[in-house]
Amino acid sequence: MTPALSITGLEKTYGNGFQALKGIDLEVAQGEFFALLGPNGAGKSTTIGIISSLVAKTAGKVSVHGIDIDEDFPGAKKFLGIVPQEFNFNVFEKVEDILVQQAGFYGIPLKTARERTDHFLDRLGLAEKRNVTARMLSGGMKRRLMIARALIHQPKLLILDEPTAGVDIEMRRSMYDFLREINAAGTTIILTTHYLEEAEALCRNMAIINHGKIVTNTSIRELLRDLTKESFVLDCLAPLPELISVTDFNVIKRDEHTIEVQIEKGQDLAQAFDGLREQGVKVLSMRNESNRLEQVFVNVLEQNA
Ligand code: ADP
Repeated sequence: MTPALSITGLEKTYGNGFQALKGIDLEVAQGEFFALLGPNGAGKSTTIGIISSLVAKTAGKVSVHGIDIDEDFPGAKKFLGIVPQEFNFNVFEKVEDILVQQAGFYGIPLKTARERTDHFLDRLGLAEKRNVTARMLSGGMKRRLMIARALIHQPKLLILDEPTAGVDIEMRRSMYDFLREINAAGTTIILTTHYLEEAEALCRNMAIINHGKIVTNTSIRELLRDLTKESFVLDCLAPLPELISVTDFNVIKRDEHTIEVQIEKGQDLAQAFDGLREQGVKVLSMRNESNRLEQVFVNVLEQNA
């Protein structure tokens, strides 16, 4: 099957001589929910800018559903919905008008445009704001308006640059539900994010970009499997015994009711629990010391420093 997005040898040197992309190869299959991760300044927005033809590339090829953006950008654009980080609608226009007009740019008949506008306003919780000028919307609402606008021509590939920046937790959840729903209905989604929990919650595959290069491109499951060391924090019944040690495990007593257990890859966590029980420790709850994906992310960046 033709990939939803195919990028080969993508390079970008800005006017000031700075090389933001140093040869990026990336393929995203149709139907994917894909995360493009990377620290600030890695080159994510530059990549998205090139795909949407807002940034001129220095070298390389980009195809959307098999259509080369240099050969037929209008053709590729029909398949593509982009939600950039910056709000770029006219803030003095009414919410509804922004969507209907956008549909017009794609030659969608007015009746269909109105129907789709109603649908997306409703689905994205903006129905009550349809007659409000966009500048009156909260940050989260503006973000949702951007998503609605990107979807109005029913693209097969939706690319979101930091979609939940400035969106509160509750709204983030309903946005996740919405994105999952359209992905399940067949829209390929690529998102860049700083929130690794977000990538973990939504995406199956991911690429990490660092200093303009892809340093990892794999499934999240595969990546987490590479985690060589993990720390767990156990909340225990106080007071804990004066000295705690478990053979083969690094166990640290943090305070009177908290223990940290470090596990190497392949070790059996149940064995650590057995050891603790033998010393009369009662474990009430347990959590990972840090987000696992975050740990992998840090490891990958360190390896490529
Ligand atoms: P990310 O989205 O991963 O945070 P960007 O793609 O925005 O990264 O930026 C990649 C690098 O390119 C950064 O070092 C940034 O400062 C630089 N950069 C971005 N836009 C320009 C520009 N217009 N001129 C010069 N350098 C730029």
